[in-house]
Amino acid sequence: MSQIEQSLPQSPVQPQQLTDQTVIQFRCHPGVACFNKCCEQIDITLTPYDLLRLKRRLDLTSQQLLAAYTVPFEMDSDGLPGVKLRTADDSPRCLFLTDQGCGIYEDRPTACRYYPVGMLSLRKTGSPVDEQSYALVREAHCLGHQEPRRITIADYRKEQQVEAFDTHSRGWRQLILKKKSTGPKVGKPTARSLQLFFLASYNLDGLREFVFSDGFRAAYDLDDATWETLRSDDGALLEFGYRLQRQVLFGEETIPLRQGPAGDTAAR
Ligand code: SF4
Ligand code: SF4
Repeated sequence: MSQIEQSLPQSPVQPQQLTDQTVIQFRCHPGVACFNKCCEQIDITLTPYDLLRLKRRLDLTSQQLLAAYTVPFEMDSDGLPGVKLRTADDSPRCLFLTDQGCGIYEDRPTACRYYPVGMLSLRKTGSPVDEQSYALVREAHCLGHQEPRRITIADYRKEQQVEAFDTHSRGWRQLILKKKSTGPKVGKPTARSLQLFFLASYNLDGLREFVFSDGFRAAYDLDDATWETLRSDDGALLEFGYRLQRQVLFGEETIPLRQGPAGDTAAR
């Protein structure tokens, strides 16, 4: 047994790193005997773009969405905030599950789309970019692995329409990786940086309010077209939030500051 296998004795995750071109045997459809089984016991971490899609789908404010459909958790020992999909009070069943299947299918979260493939973002020591690879999850209740359909992971990703979900969460995953790789050198994150991470990752309405506050507008020097985009385009606002964090947390200055006291304060 390899070292990886030994470290994952009970895990349904196959200890093998897969690529876009790996062929898997899998198909999920309403005719499988296990239909809906996987949604009766969930543990789903949400990405910022998952929340954006749920917010639109359910026509809720960020606060309403967070309160009704998520539970907070800490993603690491420094208390980096994460949110998971809330389940029913008396069971681990997903709140969106109906007898006909997923009640929000077109807007289901990233993890639901990828299953039974798990996405891994890794950054090699010294490399400026992260690399995406995959792992296969085999759980006893999932009979989709016995269906006679072979498909590459690249085609499975297309079928499950993960592209927009991956694109809009890439900056967020990179922030998490960067934080992990620089963590010990920069020390424990401050309460303020953790608050900014939560706001920019999970509270789109709050982020927009913050960006359009008098203090922010006095500090950052953006042109009219950019302000208009941030007002009307949720995806662009998310991306801007990632840039803002890289600027505030890691000093990567890509958002122009105004000259003078307000700009000096924002830079700190
Ligand atoms: S969101 Fe839909 S696919 Fe995901 S666990 Fe819930 S019911 Fe299942
Ligand atoms: S085949 Fe797997 S993914 Fe599809 S419903 Fe069954 S348990 Fe869920």
